[in-house]
Amino acid sequence: MLLLSNLPFKTQKSMPSGSDNRGTGLLLQAGFIRMTLAGAYNYTTLGLKTLRNIENIVREEMDAIGSSEILMTALGARENWEKTERWDTVDILFKLPSAEGREYALNPTHEEVVTPLIGEFIQSYKDLENCSVYQIQNKFRNEKRAKSGLLRGREFLMKDMYSFHRTQEELDAYFEVAHSAYDRVFERLGLSDSTHYTFASGGDFSKYSYEFQTEVGIGEDEIFICTKCDQAHNKEIIDENHFVCAECAHTECEKKIVSEVANIFKLGSRFSDAFGLKYQDADGQTKNIVMGCYGIGISRLMGLIAEKFADEKWLIWPENVAPFWYEIIVIGDHLEVAKTLAKKLESEWKSVLIDDRNTGFGQKAGDADLFGIPNRIILSDKTIEKGGYELKKRTESEGIIVSM
Ligand SMILES: [Zn+2]
Repeated sequence: MLLLSNLPFKTQKSMPSGSDNRGTGLLLQAGFIRMTLAGAYNYTTLGLKTLRNIENIVREEMDAIGSSEILMTALGARENWEKTERWDTVDILFKLPSAEGREYALNPTHEEVVTPLIGEFIQSYKDLENCSVYQIQNKFRNEKRAKSGLLRGREFLMKDMYSFHRTQEELDAYFEVAHSAYDRVFERLGLSDSTHYTFASGGDFSKYSYEFQTEVGIGEDEIFICTKCDQAHNKEIIDENHFVCAECAHTECEKKIVSEVANIFKLGSRFSDAFGLKYQDADGQTKNIVMGCYGIGISRLMGLIAEKFADEKWLIWPENVAPFWYEIIVIGDHLEVAKTLAKKLESEWKSVLIDDRNTGFGQKAGDADLFGIPNRIILSDKTIEKGGYELKKRTESEGIIVSM
């Protein structure tokens, strides 16, 4: 349990100016985040708990498909970015001069780190039977203009996974496994109905790349969904005047405003070739390795969920994402009772925030609504007289008395 009186952070009476979308504005008002510079945010305790909940759902689903968690460096070597011919072509690459007169990249993606790293451990075909790694780490983009709060940052938290395979068939099979894991992530985040697996323009090695696009009013992208088979298409692959479904050739579609929350790519051997990654097959021959990469924007998802689920007033978090399941508002001298109740709820795996601050009921109730915690409990002389505590869901207007 966490006591609110221990936190140095405070809410604000109104939404701070300067936030260009409501979700980020509400997160600022609730004191969940603060900006260091445009596009780079600090997370306070309640904000960090929310971010960690999203992160842990992603982590559990990647672990479940046998990927191994690692942590790679934020700094990248210029030579590696030159090997892949991306030092001069990735326009958002942050480049840093070092004291020794060299230059480094602040990585926006990690093919240039993970490929030589995994190369150190691969010799034979047996080493590629299940070779997938992921990390959850801050990424950097040197944006000319950062906007949209958490949805488009210069520094942001991502999960990026990389898989290494002996054949295209093995890559194709793992790609579908990863796709299913992503579907489970969006289901657990409460986004499965509004998230669309979308065909987008491909790279050098496959016809399409694949994006997960979530419907949200402030989205920066447009998709077109086939009214017959439901396949979504990014607008970049659509002839604006004449829609033809890439899956079923139907010609009617529905347009949606969306934000890209994840993408998965078949990279082929572009990066493994650049670093000379090979393996020795069972027949003794030396062969190429093919790769896949799989990203999910974790801090972006937090901004998107804040925006999407808020009501006309304040934040509402889905239970799996909320910083706490319960907030207990203590009125009067009932803190010990509140702690006992919190322990009981925690024994049922429900997390609890206790508002024990020395402020009035109005402030406490208002902050509880602003925080968007799904279940609010009031413990006061009045509720105890009625036989227990009052329990109210964030989405309901009336509470009920529950006996202790
Ligand atoms: Zn179709």
